[in-house]
Amino acid sequence: MALQIYINGKFYDKEDAKISVYDHGLLYGDGVFEGMRSYSGKVFRLREHLDRLYESARAICLEIPISKEEMEKATYATLQKNNLVDAYIRLVVTRGAGSLGLDPNKTSDPQVIIIADSISLYPAEFYENGLKIITASTIRNHPAALSPRIKSLNYLNNIMAKIEGLQAGCIEALMLNHKGEVAECTGDNIFIVKKGVLMTPPKDAGILEGITRNAILDLAKELGIVAFEQTMTRHDLFVADECFLTGSAAEVIPVVTIDGRPVGTGAVGVVTKRLLDAFKKLVHGK
Ligand code: PMP
Repeated sequence: MALQIYINGKFYDKEDAKISVYDHGLLYGDGVFEGMRSYSGKVFRLREHLDRLYESARAICLEIPISKEEMEKATYATLQKNNLVDAYIRLVVTRGAGSLGLDPNKTSDPQVIIIADSISLYPAEFYENGLKIITASTIRNHPAALSPRIKSLNYLNNIMAKIEGLQAGCIEALMLNHKGEVAECTGDNIFIVKKGVLMTPPKDAGILEGITRNAILDLAKELGIVAFEQTMTRHDLFVADECFLTGSAAEVIPVVTIDGRPVGTGAVGVVTKRLLDAFKKLVHGK
């Protein structure tokens, strides 16, 4: 059976899952989304993802036509319909079809879309040997222009940085904020370890407050690792002992070089390994 996609309460074969070309989600990137994972049939931190989705929607004055409870039920229904237990799940809410102008008041019927598909992790070698990243010259959106805390369908800022990374042979790229401080990567949050202490940029660095990021901060506490939010510059990364990235898709992935410079010894760090193992145990419920 073809993959079944949820749109507004109904399921469609992947090939037939379509929305209007007048949808402002397509015309203007006007909408919000979430990327989540299920492990053994349970969606990891679903409540947090739903809270972030509804907050993103609220921030752009988009009313999601179904409640969080209905969205939760629809998410599990989509997994079940596709017989998926370990999956990547994309929730999308668009502004809906409108006229050929920006005015969101001239749109109707936000579209609620749920896609559940098999997981596509980065290749295993990256988890074992670590990633090489570069700093993109594209800075993260200025929070006063478009807050990075909104997970909107407008991802061009991140895509521009991703292109720079890919052109340099890297699958992830670091983005600085308008003050030149470390913000995050194109689709992942960033952590460093210095003298055994774990640090990550604060929310006001202009980042998406990652759910995996928060899970790692919780895990660090449980493991007795000192961890806090810290404003940092590229200097802090260059002199760090360890570095890793977090995200629902990437999970926890070590970084071993930044702009061609080795991080610490250039090998995957011990604190990173501890957290990576603890994260695996957490999501697999062991
Ligand atoms: N930053 C950005 C820009 C992202 O797109 C993502 C992935 N959604 C993250 C960070 C990581 O967030 P999460 O852990 O909630 O997936």
